[in-house]
Amino acid sequence: ESGEWQRALRAQFPILTGHPDLAYLDSAATAQKPQAVLDAVQTYLTTTNANAGRGTYPWANRTTSLVEETRDRVRRFLRDPDPERSAVHFTSGTTEGLRTIARDWLPGFLVDGDEIVVPVADHQANIEPWLETQRQLARQGTHVRVLPMPYQQASGDYDHTVLARLAGPRTRFVAVTHVHHVYGGDMNIPRIREAVGPDAVICLDAAQSIGHLPVSLAGLDVDFVAFSGHKALALPGSGAVWARQARGPRFVPGGWSGTPHTVGIVSLAAALDWLEAAGTDRIERWTVALASRLTDGLRHLDAYEILGCQTSLAADSPVQRRQGIVTFRHREIGSGDLGFILFSHGFMVRCDQHCQGSAGESSESVRVSLHVYSTVEEIDRLLSVLATLG
Ligand code: PMP
Repeated sequence: ESGEWQRALRAQFPILTGHPDLAYLDSAATAQKPQAVLDAVQTYLTTTNANAGRGTYPWANRTTSLVEETRDRVRRFLRDPDPERSAVHFTSGTTEGLRTIARDWLPGFLVDGDEIVVPVADHQANIEPWLETQRQLARQGTHVRVLPMPYQQASGDYDHTVLARLAGPRTRFVAVTHVHHVYGGDMNIPRIREAVGPDAVICLDAAQSIGHLPVSLAGLDVDFVAFSGHKALALPGSGAVWARQARGPRFVPGGWSGTPHTVGIVSLAAALDWLEAAGTDRIERWTVALASRLTDGLRHLDAYEILGCQTSLAADSPVQRRQGIVTFRHREIGSGDLGFILFSHGFMVRCDQHCQGSAGESSESVRVSLHVYSTVEEIDRLLSVLATLG
């Protein structure tokens, strides 16, 4: 039954149906686009295209409304419990979103002697902006301490023991990732809130969770969410920051002073509609099942070592659930060579250090990342090719 459901969805991705001999397994880098997103872009450009926030004729007014409607669309998609008070700001992706928070908002929130938590094995996009804030404030004589939050292999999550030991009353800002882009773990955000208390601001890098699993702000006590539209089936260069506006100063970036990426915003609304209709809960079940199939297969192949949590993928286990990202290495073949061999068999995977922060150990590894269009057949074919290299 879920096979039928998935085949019908996969058939809506023209780039995939057009290349039946290739397997796109790099969705954590960027996702493919369904026909509905391509149609929304085409329709907008052929019926409505104008600039937003200026102009008084129908196309311009309609463009302005589409941008505003998409802000509400993002809030609904995230199950925003207080949409009257939140802000949605469009960005080119997660990197720009996190940088905007770090540059425009965080310096006005922190005072001398405050501490910020930075996860050292995360994506660089969730490390460097916070260190830059620290440097910027130091130049003005405000000294902020960085508490490095480690990742723990055994649990597939952050090291919550270390965080609980480090965090104190001066810990006012915490950067975390929702789903780790190398290890695939679904990080325990409620435990972060427990460790840092009710007053700290939590900023969530949701690049690998939005569009892959249901994300409900009602159940996550966080203040900022940054994500990339292009990883959630929308066009490249689209993304957003959601800001709760409850702790600290208001988040007021940009406004209408520049031309927004209207086509990207239109594509984002269409992508969120498509994802909601498909069901993010079903998408999650599908990609988690494929990732389990891949890790189970890899565990039987002695030549490979899986990075991140090895033990269990069960939803009720004490280790974190693995989402649709599996990173592994061959004990003898380097990742560049392995990537080359895999592409000769039609597999597109990521093989480098995955933009991971300095404390990461993902160099020389291959990352397979999935989305709703990924198939059981692709995983089985990949495993049989990997087995021949064992
Ligand atoms: N954070 C994480 C966890 C990511 O996986 C990525 C993309 N690989 C980013 C941030 C950066 O996203 P973007 O390139 O869309 O800005």
